[in-house]
Amino acid sequence: MIQEYTIRVHPHQAANEATIKDYLAHEEGLEMKSMTHVRVLKRSIDARQRTIFVNLKVRVYINEEPTDDEYVKTEYRDVSSAPQVVVVGAGPGGLFAALRLIELGLKPVVLERGKDVHERKKDLALIARTQQVDEESNYCFGEGGAGAYSDGKLYTRSKKRGSVEKILNVFCQHGASTNILADAHPHIGTDKLPRVIENMRNTIIQCGGEVHFQTKMVALNLRPVMEGGETDREVVGVKAVHTTVNGEREEREFHGPVILATGHSARDVYRYLTDAGVFLEAKALAVGVRLEHPAHLIDQIQYHNKEGRGAYLPAAEYGFVTQVEGRGVYSFCMCPGGFVIPAATGPEQIVVNGMSPSNRGTRWSNSGMVVELRPEDVQGEGPLKMMRFQEELERVCWQQGNRKQTAPAQRMTDFVNGKLSADLPDSSYAPGLLASPLHFWLPEMITTRLRQGFKKFGSMSRGFMTSNATVIGVETRTSSPVRILRDKDSLEHVNVKGLFPCGEGAGYAGGIVSAGVDGERCAEQVARLLGIG
Ligand SMILES: Cc1cc2nc3c(=O)[nH]c(=O)nc-3n(C[C@H](O)[C@H](O)[C@H](O)COP(=O)(O)OP(=O)(O)OC[C@H]3O[C@@H](n4cnc5c(N)ncnc54)[C@H](O)[C@@H]3O)c2cc1C
Repeated sequence: MIQEYTIRVHPHQAANEATIKDYLAHEEGLEMKSMTHVRVLKRSIDARQRTIFVNLKVRVYINEEPTDDEYVKTEYRDVSSAPQVVVVGAGPGGLFAALRLIELGLKPVVLERGKDVHERKKDLALIARTQQVDEESNYCFGEGGAGAYSDGKLYTRSKKRGSVEKILNVFCQHGASTNILADAHPHIGTDKLPRVIENMRNTIIQCGGEVHFQTKMVALNLRPVMEGGETDREVVGVKAVHTTVNGEREEREFHGPVILATGHSARDVYRYLTDAGVFLEAKALAVGVRLEHPAHLIDQIQYHNKEGRGAYLPAAEYGFVTQVEGRGVYSFCMCPGGFVIPAATGPEQIVVNGMSPSNRGTRWSNSGMVVELRPEDVQGEGPLKMMRFQEELERVCWQQGNRKQTAPAQRMTDFVNGKLSADLPDSSYAPGLLASPLHFWLPEMITTRLRQGFKKFGSMSRGFMTSNATVIGVETRTSSPVRILRDKDSLEHVNVKGLFPCGEGAGYAGGIVSAGVDGERCAEQVARLLGIG
């Protein structure tokens, strides 16, 4: 027999299967011996009051073993001789597009400018050691995209429940813990993501798809087409440059419709598209700093306990949002028990971001603290003006950071009070920090709003505003600075047929799950175009 229960328990009672069984035996009168297995279907922490509760929905198998699968398995077919589709970019958008193409009976040919997910790791380690960023292999470029060495938080504001669940199930099929199906705030962790991404790549290859690393798309192959008396253009493939193991560069061409999933940091792609007359527009984004606190302090505040989180609760999360002078100021990509990382993709840039391992066990908790920026807030013209603003801010930050990857930083209270910090708290940021008056050199429209925002968050949460927290510059890659224009139903580009702008870089996603959902949708629309599926 199978029975389901919705229960509200103390953290120690939710710790594992044995403690949940114990609770069910005592509170629901179930016989201990008869409970063969308990599966957690939903789990969330309610930390709003002084007493913390864990809400659980559990399925109890009584006198029988589970025979149902823990996740929904997707069937992938052999597509080795199917029509091919070029997928540019192996981030979540590109990988989920490729897997969905296979499901639908099409052969994906994935091009990725960076290295495979394991080789890439070595280049990440070099950033702190050499203070240099490899332009093709870094925290944003390489297999898995910005999603690989990310936090791996899998919650999304997307309302498409079915599509979100599909993405989570595909992750489980490729090795992610099934906890992500139960947790209200699912999280894989940067230590576990590479293996999952590698398994996704293996599925693509085993089914007859192709994955080409160190292969950068440099141009679209476009040809004119006549439509209703007007000349339009159609993409029939891409031109790419492959870097061999000896460092030689070879030109290559790949044929087929194109899913363009190159992420928010491929500025060369945006420049190429603009020059080629492929329509884009400037898009709003958010810009600011990373704020790093001691994890124990955030645990004390969020769990209302001076002892912190104790043995049974995870590192605590927070989320803040307010409006200052007509613009949103909010926390972004909060990483409990995580690291602040150097996420630049080229020379003369400092960009910070955050990630955490699966155990969220470091001594720090950080988040982006950003201010909404609309195209009308920024001077200049044209579709690339927000991107130029980002670039300039990253360059100024690099200059302030001693022209290395050492990031300029300030104590939170000094930033608010307009004072240079005499020294800085211990930080997780591996390339190192340098005391700098961020309040002085950040654009005023950002500084003023951030300072007011911090004061507000400090008044909402006692202890949050502290000299033990560090403001680190600058957080600029919160989303794409442009939108590559596409039809809202066919997802095809508005002036280039056969081109499907996809994921975060195209301006249609804002995280791992939403990029994955968009990848699947683009694959479906390509199949429709080709009359397949
Ligand atoms: C440090 C960090 C932490 C993050 N944490 C989270 C998180 O916890 N949760 C969350 O939901 N999101 C997180 N994000 C954001 C998330 O990673 C992105 O939203 C997501 O990866 C976007 O997916 P994408 O496929 O659209 O683009 P990307 O992941 O950016 O992938 C684009 C890919 O295209 C490749 N590419 C670019 N140009 C070319 C070219 N010319 N030719 C061939 N290949 C090319 C790039 O190398 C890259 O691999 C984080 C991002 C960072 C940087």
